[in-house]
Amino acid sequence: MSLKGKTALITGSTSGIGMGIATTLAGAGVNVIINGFGDTTEISLFLSELERCGVQAIYSDTDLSTEEGAIELYKAGVEKFGKIDILVNNAGIQHVEPIETFPAERWDKIIGLMLSAPFYLTKAVLPNMKKQKWGRIINIASAHGLVASPKKAAYVSAKHGLNGLTKVTALECANTGVTCNSICPGWVLTPPVKEQVDVIARDENMSWEEAKTKLLSEKQPQTEFTTPEEIGELALFLCSDGAKNMTGAQMPIDGGWQAR
Ligand code: NAD
Repeated sequence: MSLKGKTALITGSTSGIGMGIATTLAGAGVNVIINGFGDTTEISLFLSELERCGVQAIYSDTDLSTEEGAIELYKAGVEKFGKIDILVNNAGIQHVEPIETFPAERWDKIIGLMLSAPFYLTKAVLPNMKKQKWGRIINIASAHGLVASPKKAAYVSAKHGLNGLTKVTALECANTGVTCNSICPGWVLTPPVKEQVDVIARDENMSWEEAKTKLLSEKQPQTEFTTPEEIGELALFLCSDGAKNMTGAQMPIDGGWQAR
């Protein structure tokens, strides 16, 4: 089955993993709604790149930390394309601090963006997906949706919650033509992760390659990053007919992190 002419809303797609997924889906003929923050010139260039795949692409800078923001983004997509066939809940941020001093404002922001916004968007897209008997919801969770690390209380809680939302959505959509799955990446080389490697290299006076291996080997037996494009390929597979009986799954793509 071709995905040509379908429409995908990918949150947080001006950078990193979201960008990789938008690129892969556009390459398969899917119109895309991209979202997130960033330099306007770079975003315009990215839109042009997507359009060179022969699809339509629009951008919304909506802040997804609130219900109003999530609904505004959904409406912008429907206004342009009439429907959303594929929803990818990807936008995310991090805050690293022990629970005792973890700021309440950062907790609220992370839960709002990474758990509540996926809920509001899922709620908005489901009626039409069920009506048309086809839909794909892909939640970008994390290895931290399956296991924890210290100092990441809000992130780990949001990602475990997102995996719960995936399961409930899958159950409520059984036999409707709509599937919902989570992708659980390990380390992916995106701007926030590059910064972490830079810090290790600087603080421990190591080469960038040594710092990379140090960061990855703490968690992953395979000490190479997953790429945003590889996450895009997995998302594309989940949209295919071959994956129509896959639903409610949490799929690691993590260099063996979960095997430990
Ligand atoms: P990134 O910083 O490169 O991209 C994050 C995107 O979210 C950007 O487009 C940013 O503008 C957008 N965003 C941030 N706050 C927003 C808000 N309030 N409203 C709307 N958009 C907002 O990060 P990334 O590494 O590509 O992460 C993408 C997702 O993948 C996140 O959910 C992250 O938790 C998850 N993830 C990343 C890794 C990794 O190693 N990079 C591993 C596992 C899971």
